[in-house]
Amino acid sequence: LFLKQIRAYGFKSFAEPTNLDFTHDMIGVVGPNGSGKSNITDAIRWALGEQSAKSLRGGNLDDVVFAGSVNKPALDQAEVTLVFDNQKDRFSTVDSPIVEITRRFNKKTRDSEFLINGQKAKMRDVQDIALETGLTKSSIAIISQGTISTFAEAKPEQRREIFDEAAGVAKYKKRKRETTIKLLKAMENLSRLEDINNEIG
Ligand code: ATP
Repeated sequence: LFLKQIRAYGFKSFAEPTNLDFTHDMIGVVGPNGSGKSNITDAIRWALGEQSAKSLRGGNLDDVVFAGSVNKPALDQAEVTLVFDNQKDRFSTVDSPIVEITRRFNKKTRDSEFLINGQKAKMRDVQDIALETGLTKSSIAIISQGTISTFAEAKPEQRREIFDEAAGVAKYKKRKRETTIKLLKAMENLSRLEDINNEIG
């Protein structure tokens, strides 16, 4: 199995340190409305660098921290770790059989950090890895309430993005975009240098 475990503490309704082990090909999560089933997929998205409060179903990003319940006081910090199996080298940038991605956010101190296998990492690096998991927002790996209608009503270009991501093309398109921007900047610099050169010469 690719995603092996989710560990969450202080994230949304996870008031206690919680480990969810994905030990079978198919797993069902049952519970009454509002018991926190969708918070599991929110945890996956958040750990992978989701920045939109709306797609995490909150008003702002602070809403991911456990806000307290009738018998549990609120917490200051949310933390989620995803454990992936990388034995088939699905992650091109990380060379280890297990890849652990952690996101932490402290509402009081405003400290926010990402870790890849226990080492501090940039959000960008985690988001790049996220593209390789196929679990990000625009992918069809997570189908939440409303996703089907979004897909059905999407414009052809938006639908194309969903297919690109499912087929693993999205990461290359992102890299191409970044490289094109660098190239344009380099060309601008070159033309400025030519101007200076002409003035001197
Ligand atoms: P449904 O079947 O209705 O979709 P669900 O089981 O998927 O429900 P979720 O939407 O995942 O439930 O969970 C919502 C619950 O999580 C609500 O009870 C809400 O109070 C709780 N919750 C969300 N954010 C927080 C938070 N920051 N602190 C405490 N509880 C939270």
